[in-house]
Amino acid sequence: SIPVAIVAGIGRGAREGMLIKGGEFLETTARVTAVALDKTGTLTHGTPAVTDVRPAAGVTDAELLRWASAAESGSEHPLAAAVIAAATDAGVAPHGVADDVAPVPGHGIVATVQGRRVVVGNAALLVAEGIDGGAALADEAEVSAAGRTTVVVALDGVVLGVLGLADTIRPDAAEMVTRLHASGIRTVVMLTGDAERVARTVADATGVDQVEAHLLPEDKLAAVQRLQAQGHVVAMVGDGVNDAPALAVADIGVAMGAAGTAVAVETADIALMRDDLLALPAALDLARRTVRVMR
Ligand code: ADP
Ligand code: MG
Repeated sequence: SIPVAIVAGIGRGAREGMLIKGGEFLETTARVTAVALDKTGTLTHGTPAVTDVRPAAGVTDAELLRWASAAESGSEHPLAAAVIAAATDAGVAPHGVADDVAPVPGHGIVATVQGRRVVVGNAALLVAEGIDGGAALADEAEVSAAGRTTVVVALDGVVLGVLGLADTIRPDAAEMVTRLHASGIRTVVMLTGDAERVARTVADATGVDQVEAHLLPEDKLAAVQRLQAQGHVVAMVGDGVNDAPALAVADIGVAMGAAGTAVAVETADIALMRDDLLALPAALDLARRTVRVMR
């Protein structure tokens, strides 16, 4: 039979917007020693906006946005919505919608639009596609040095230009990290698929202890396993499809439920149903109090 304290703990969690999927998860949560956090959509709102439009020589802003937005019409990534919004704001009609879009996790997309091949993603995707970045790589480096997320756009193997995007950090992110530290969690790690410089900017603003950038979904999983190999009981917090493997391998997977993807919510052991990061330290606190009552 399930101890009364556990039932009460799950009920209290539910009232505070935490969906705890079983009593065993409260007991494990009480033993957590390290927290791993996704960046985009977890520490940040995950609703970036385009800040820089840098077309290659001989290409117009409109042409760059036209192809990029048509390709992104088939993607569910937060960056895709930002690119489409930028095109709409600029009064640019996209080249129809994409006929086919293949996501390349952690890197971008490869789309077919009107029979043409459009690649939208990071510099590593260009390399993988065998496309010469040329002068656009200098623009990419400059925008990225300013702390922004960059995506390069190529049409039939020729670079059209670079877009810079900025996301906003959640107002309660720094407070959450402070509370985790105060509760004795000394290892708070940010895991992101984004570039190093962007990751650093968010790390400095939130006070996380460690940062790992350029991670693919399987790298996030490996990072959680490395913490476990060091003896940590790990809680992983994420919102995206790219976080699901890490959420599954963590001792406790926590999904940002309000804005998170269905896959993340399904994979997690605890879903935070409100748009409130402070629910994470609150969940650790609730778990510890619940287990203490049982002893
Ligand atoms: P995070 O781990 O921070 O949530 P992702 O793994 O989802 O980030 O994405 C990593 C990087 O891959 C992005 O910063 C971007 O450069 C590129 N990328 C992924 N999806 C897209 C897309 N639909 N359009 C453009 N770029 C993308
Ligand atoms: Mg994310």
